[in-house]
Amino acid sequence: MNLTHRGIGMTSQRTRERLVQRLRDEGIRDERVLAAIRDTPRHIFVDEALASRAYEDTALPIGFAQTISQPYIVARMTEALLEAGPLNDVLEVGTGSGYQTAILARLVRRVYTVERIEALLNQARDRFRELGLRTIRLKHADGTLGMPEYAPFDGILVTAAPETVPDALVAQLKVGGRMVLPVGGREGQSLVRVTRTERGVERRVLERVVFVPLLGGLQ
Ligand code: SAH
Repeated sequence: MNLTHRGIGMTSQRTRERLVQRLRDEGIRDERVLAAIRDTPRHIFVDEALASRAYEDTALPIGFAQTISQPYIVARMTEALLEAGPLNDVLEVGTGSGYQTAILARLVRRVYTVERIEALLNQARDRFRELGLRTIRLKHADGTLGMPEYAPFDGILVTAAPETVPDALVAQLKVGGRMVLPVGGREGQSLVRVTRTERGVERRVLERVVFVPLLGGLQ
């Protein structure tokens, strides 16, 4: 079945406009980000049985004990990444459903995305093809190590939480580049923006969040 034609009722312009309005009410201001969310069909990134809930502002299960991020969080992280201006090369760690990747692909020149669960990566690849997104490069690997073969990046976005900021990822940022990631363990996580400077890094805590953990090893 053609993925983009699935769940016609839920994809109506009005349903998506409602989500965008909600994100505005929650404080998302970047019009480029809001437009990307309006134009990206989130229902094709979840199982058909959950398609009717795809435009609610909530995380949803995608199998393998993982979740598609809440639209507010996707918007907030993307906004924080783009704050200082347009970016060329962006690395995403934790492809998952591919929804965040698809949003990024509309806003930056090229997206490199890495996922440790091969089955999720393959599903995401099919969705990108279906949507005609051709600027995304996918890799099955432990994203804690980044993608050294394509580094350095203008931006890095991590969608699973490490206990501390991974050094290998900081090392793959250009000077002036920024990384947005959740950091912390079971006791709680913070969304952090790390900017690489000539002298080191600057850190800014944005807000409290809840993400699945960044794990080692492939599956
Ligand atoms: N951006 C995704 C979020 C998925 S949840 C979405 O909106 O759908 C986080 C993802 O990170 C999961 O798919 C999980 O398998 C993946 N992940 C966790 N640890 C990882 C690691 N070390 N390397 C790559 N991916 C990882």
